[in-house]
Amino acid sequence: MADSEPLPGWAPQPFRQFVFKVQSRCNLDCDYCYVYHLADQSWRRQPKHMAPDTVRAAARRIAEHAARHELDRVKITIHGGEPLLGGRAYLETFLSVMRANAPGVALDFSMQTNGVLLDDEMAAFLVDESVIVGISLDGDREANDLHRRFRDGRSSYDLVEDAIRRMTRPENRESFGGVLCTVQLAADPLRVWHSLLDLGTPALDFLLPHGTWSSPPPGLRPGDGRTPYADWLIPIFDEWFDAADRPASVRIFEDILNLLLGGVDSYESFGLAPVCLVVVETDGGYEQVDSMKAAYEGAAATGMSVFTESLDDLLGTPGIVARQVGLSGLHETCRECALVETCGGGLYSHRYLEGSGFVNPSVFCADLYALISHIERRTTDQLTARGLTLAQVRQSGPSAGGEGLADGRGTSGNGAARTLGGA
Ligand code: SF4
Repeated sequence: MADSEPLPGWAPQPFRQFVFKVQSRCNLDCDYCYVYHLADQSWRRQPKHMAPDTVRAAARRIAEHAARHELDRVKITIHGGEPLLGGRAYLETFLSVMRANAPGVALDFSMQTNGVLLDDEMAAFLVDESVIVGISLDGDREANDLHRRFRDGRSSYDLVEDAIRRMTRPENRESFGGVLCTVQLAADPLRVWHSLLDLGTPALDFLLPHGTWSSPPPGLRPGDGRTPYADWLIPIFDEWFDAADRPASVRIFEDILNLLLGGVDSYESFGLAPVCLVVVETDGGYEQVDSMKAAYEGAAATGMSVFTESLDDLLGTPGIVARQVGLSGLHETCRECALVETCGGGLYSHRYLEGSGFVNPSVFCADLYALISHIERRTTDQLTARGLTLAQVRQSGPSAGGEGLADGRGTSGNGAARTLGGA
């Protein structure tokens, strides 16, 4: 497909999720970070904090967009850099300016933080402000220390562990969105899984490390037939799937199950639903999905800004169109793939190859195929034992799989993240 041409019959989908890069710097120096250690180094030109005038202009753009598309609520993710670097005073100003300038639309705030500065006072403040908090941690101390360290090499583990335990306390738990764990092939998967469960987190997600065909992720040599990331995730899936009581919601598994069972909505990593997310950089620039910074310098940039263009102006730009056209935006290998409705070609940024852009299968193609196939097999076996077929459930929708289905927390957008399995 030509990267930039809207297709007949296709209409732009309004943005419903906004990632605000409120701080452009970080107090950790994780060596796999796409912001500071991969191809795009544009953070160096960004102001350190998003100024109140920028927040105001962005909130007004969101209000205008929501009114035009009759959206009664949108999601706002407070992100960085490290979003807690500005402290409570900064966040108070951010939240009040946002709310004051988008009065006609409900703003559902969440935050992704490294947890280092999340003390009792900050936790209480975020709970009071109804901000759902996600914390990044890559497993036990040994796994986390592989990459998530301070600039002087110190471990961040103890501070982050404290933050997670703090958020699991009864008074904070409702505002805890869970733990985000980047897969480290060098770490033992079940040890990582149990160490995260031991912290009491109600939800978690496993993230594939960022990389492209031109700059493959750690341990991956695309085309060599190995599937190290699927091999790492499958033992965790099996233990989770077979548990009599789900110990935690796991977004990556619930998203895949939901799509296999006929759901359509998902997070941007899977499926064919249009991506309705935009990033607002610290200087007010609109950017596409942040992980595209793993591809090349300027990959995520749009050249547009909250000060000069509306969100509707942004909707028609080639990069946004390419992420909203579903099947027709994919490489022919993906279009002909038996698993495309679930996989969706993987995360957009993982498809990049220098010289051919983003119209390629994911660099994780073999791993995604192996993981989804495994989950499909396990699901089919469970349904067969209940006298059902996957086709029947897909026809009736994800909730038609019989008893034993359970809602996940904080997962797929349509609320149909259902989990088969259990002893
Ligand atoms: S498994 Fe591979 S070929 Fe199939 S949709 Fe995903 S990336 Fe494309």
